[in-house]
Amino acid sequence: MPSPIILVHGGAWAIPDAACPAHQQGVERAAAAGWRALERGASSLDAVEEAVAVLEDDDTFDAGRGAFLNRDGRVQLDALIMDGASLKAGGVGCVERILNPVRAARVVLEKSPHIYFVAEGAERFATEHGIPLIDNSELVLQREVERWKSAAEQRYLSVPAEFSGDSHDTVGAVALDVQGNIAAATSTGGTLNKAPGRVGDSSLIGCGCYADNETAAASTTGWGEPMMKLVFAKWATDKVTADVAPAQVAPASIHYLKRRLNGQGGIILLDREGRIGLAHNTPRMAWAWRSQQSSESGLTAPQQ
Ligand code: ASP
Repeated sequence: MPSPIILVHGGAWAIPDAACPAHQQGVERAAAAGWRALERGASSLDAVEEAVAVLEDDDTFDAGRGAFLNRDGRVQLDALIMDGASLKAGGVGCVERILNPVRAARVVLEKSPHIYFVAEGAERFATEHGIPLIDNSELVLQREVERWKSAAEQRYLSVPAEFSGDSHDTVGAVALDVQGNIAAATSTGGTLNKAPGRVGDSSLIGCGCYADNETAAASTTGWGEPMMKLVFAKWATDKVTADVAPAQVAPASIHYLKRRLNGQGGIILLDREGRIGLAHNTPRMAWAWRSQQSSESGLTAPQQ
């Protein structure tokens, strides 16, 4: 019987020293929540949903409440969840009135023949399935209003420089359950001052999130446009085989992202054997994993 494990990330960027404790504690709390689900025998899907919901609830991260504002000064959120056993996926994009988009994505996965809903249609579907709608202002932090104003003054758009200088706190999780099934979830507020309606890689199937029991589960973070062009999460999971472990594939995929499109970001990977991989080419990436035997967390990927 496989030994369950959960691995989470809280974004890849130049996390300032002062923000490090909040990031590390946040990913540890999320891994603990996912682990509690796995420990009581819940599915990997439940575990990644729980872990990502904790990160969405944490103001530290660019997901749920506290996310970046778009050019209109509104929070617009994207999330995807995927089950490696059935290849079922559920995603929502451009939602403005949902506290936990990963839970709306889960409802799409469970209750809809479709895979992806956007904007008002996504909100309508969510509310029809018991998810309450909130006012967009409940997702907006004063900290983000200040950040957005200075970005707007600088005519600051989504360019690679922000990955070394400014916040990039998309969140994600991959998990393996006691049944031997893997799953992945990713949730984001996207890039600072993004154009309204812009969707990045995070919630697109195979770009910022993917899970297939035959290969691996992945969640990515970073500059979304290059990742979309490379269908990055799917590229990485397809490289995982019995002989090529996630620990090799993760750095190789970040190298590929950089070489092909000068992309910047990070990735977490997990296969059915419970083998993990994590890598980033940004100064830092918050991550944590937990299994029966042990747990670990950090702000830079360990040497693998
Ligand atoms: N990948 C996200 C996006 O482009 C941003 C991030 O990971 O921080 O929307």
